[in-house]
Amino acid sequence: MSSCRVPQASWWTSSPVVSRRICNSTILICAYPRPSPRSACLLLVRIVRGFSDIVRSPKAIIDGLFLMNYHVPSKIQATVIPIVLRDPPENVICQSQTGTGKTAAYTIAMLQRVNTDLMAPQALCIVPTRELARQVVGYVNTVARFMTEIITELCIPSAVPRGTKIVGHIVVGTPGTVMSALRYKMLDPTHLKIFVVDEADNILESQGVADQTTRSWRFLPKPIQTLMFSATWSPEVLNYAKSFCTNPNIITLERHELTMKGIRQIYMDCKDEEDKYRVLVMLYHVMTVASSIIFVKVTSRPIDLRTCC
Ligand code: AMP
Repeated sequence: MSSCRVPQASWWTSSPVVSRRICNSTILICAYPRPSPRSACLLLVRIVRGFSDIVRSPKAIIDGLFLMNYHVPSKIQATVIPIVLRDPPENVICQSQTGTGKTAAYTIAMLQRVNTDLMAPQALCIVPTRELARQVVGYVNTVARFMTEIITELCIPSAVPRGTKIVGHIVVGTPGTVMSALRYKMLDPTHLKIFVVDEADNILESQGVADQTTRSWRFLPKPIQTLMFSATWSPEVLNYAKSFCTNPNIITLERHELTMKGIRQIYMDCKDEEDKYRVLVMLYHVMTVASSIIFVKVTSRPIDLRTCC
């Protein structure tokens, strides 16, 4: 075996990212061994040093990422982006939480699929909440800041008055509103090429919301490239995903690889709401927090929490 030189990359780890393609038994293993003369020839399928290695065009995307200070793709980006950009398009089911860089992965996929000469929705992204939909639209606009012809549109309650046509190239919305927009022909699915479902596990939390997503999918032209992201992959979530994400590449990361460098996630076991509040107050006392966001489940919580920060 001849030796080959492995370039240095800041996110190299000893454990591989493994992606499997189910149904037709192709197995793709991407391993990023630590650079050492002995390990250099191990199962090295792809070396990604910068976004330009995986996103070839348009250059405007790379420029946008560069301005956001994204120089090296995260693991999830280095794995997902080359797969989603393949032609013919392939489907992906990906285990990824907030902090893995998944939003950039599917944003790049959507931006690449859009043909700006055609003024019609071409990418549809469904997320569980309005707040997340707003965030994703803001994020896509930031990455696409040099792609001035790209139009993004929100499809959430209050953003689309009844009867208005949705014409943006990239539409991001919540399950119920997207389903109504499709049903009442406010959103023309004819030219959609890519369908993204983010936080599939949260969508599945409510049967009604999961059904709305499935019904929306039924309106879409087939085949359509489908990407699904979820922090957890219980058999229930996987079955749900496979019901409309056919023949997918399944991408999972090992536990310690889940978050971006610089982001640390911890959890605290709390007995009840009181205890949770006590722990939060304690954290704000011991840590230097310039600014922070606390995500809560019910809308009354922010009012209670204001007093602890
Ligand atoms: P996400 O998992 O998409 O919510 O992203 C988590 C955080 O990582 C966000 O603050 C992103 O702006 C940031 N991020 C995503 N990709 C990169 C990258 N390649 N380099 C630096 N930061 C990134």
